[in-house]
Amino acid sequence: MTIQADRESHVHDATSGIAMTDSNGKALVCTACGSSRLQQVVEVPNLPAFCNVLLNSVEDARAVTRGDIRLVYCEECAFLFNSAFDDSLLAYSPDYSNSLSCSPSFGSFLQEMSVRLVEKHNLNEKTVLELGCGDGDFLTRLSTLGNNRGFGFDPSYYGPEEVDAGKGVSFKTSYYSSDDAVNPDLVCSRHVLEHVAEPMDFVRLLAEAARGNEADLYIEVPDGKYMIEKPAIWDLIYEHPGYFTDRSLVSIIEKAGLRVTEARPTFLDQFLYVDASAADRPGGSFLDQTTGLDTLDELVSGFRDVFDRTVKRWSDEVVSMAVAGKRVVAWGAGSKGVTFLNLVQGGKIEHIVDINPAKHGRYVPGTGQSVVSPESLVEYQPDLVLLMNGAYESEVTSSLRSLGVNAKVTVVD
Ligand SMILES: [Zn+2]
Repeated sequence: MTIQADRESHVHDATSGIAMTDSNGKALVCTACGSSRLQQVVEVPNLPAFCNVLLNSVEDARAVTRGDIRLVYCEECAFLFNSAFDDSLLAYSPDYSNSLSCSPSFGSFLQEMSVRLVEKHNLNEKTVLELGCGDGDFLTRLSTLGNNRGFGFDPSYYGPEEVDAGKGVSFKTSYYSSDDAVNPDLVCSRHVLEHVAEPMDFVRLLAEAARGNEADLYIEVPDGKYMIEKPAIWDLIYEHPGYFTDRSLVSIIEKAGLRVTEARPTFLDQFLYVDASAADRPGGSFLDQTTGLDTLDELVSGFRDVFDRTVKRWSDEVVSMAVAGKRVVAWGAGSKGVTFLNLVQGGKIEHIVDINPAKHGRYVPGTGQSVVSPESLVEYQPDLVLLMNGAYESEVTSSLRSLGVNAKVTVVD
């Protein structure tokens, strides 16, 4: 099949057959594989650049830096990326928090994944390196479980430099570089790759960190296939220039010279992980065990069709509840909640609930809702709770009922 014929069979919008360009007029290529076989998916202008940074006042919240999303799909490797992304709008600092560790469901997911990795790679008295360790929870679990030595790097880490878990865990608030060689047996990176503008460079850095010791690797990202298949349109955020399908994740990891041994969705299919190895052993490509391009092309077309309809449906719902004098709150002041409020006329919603006390009394970037505790709903008594993530439905419903709040709970994902 020629490239042109292939294009015609997949491309459904006005951009078909036209080479795409970036904002400077340069020919656009896939940031994961370099291909120019791209199609535009959706455009969302003017979103808060950071949706995981809450603000200290309504005024600050409404004045945040904003950026555009122009989501593009690569027909070659099935990667989705924001071609309007400008990483100068983002500077990660200790204000940044996308940890979900407060949630019991999420905590048990992290624990089960840590147990799986310790067993699979026989991680006992070994060294674990994590790039982008966030609050250090995962690395601490891995170190504790196998009495391992941990090294974590993350500019947004806040906390002690040394934690007494396993054989000790050291944290640095800098980016990892090859000068930081720690000779790891396992190299981990969870929810980092989707944040970097040049993902190939980052995967090469992981590969380099793993190569000396022929280490194993664990790489976890949000599942881009879940986003387009569900579809989970609130997962589209400026902080994520990239969205990996299983196919594009395996493809970029293999391009860096690593061998993929497993690729699976996890955490109710919302995340995707790959186990890989830097060991030079024979074995074919894992690509034929991932989702086929035809299937992914169809999902992308479906996502494009449903995006505007879904935004309009929830905007109408929020407005009609307000007109009827009903109180609506959103639940989950993470990225999905912030995107939802910014896309759907969220001005009709006064509050967003979160179980993390550190978020209470702060404000949602862009739209300025205050973040409140579940307990505050006892007095507010909402009619409707819009839950951003169905994974927490039973947890949230039972916590509301035990507080004596009888609001209807509706999942918006
Ligand atoms: Zn590509």
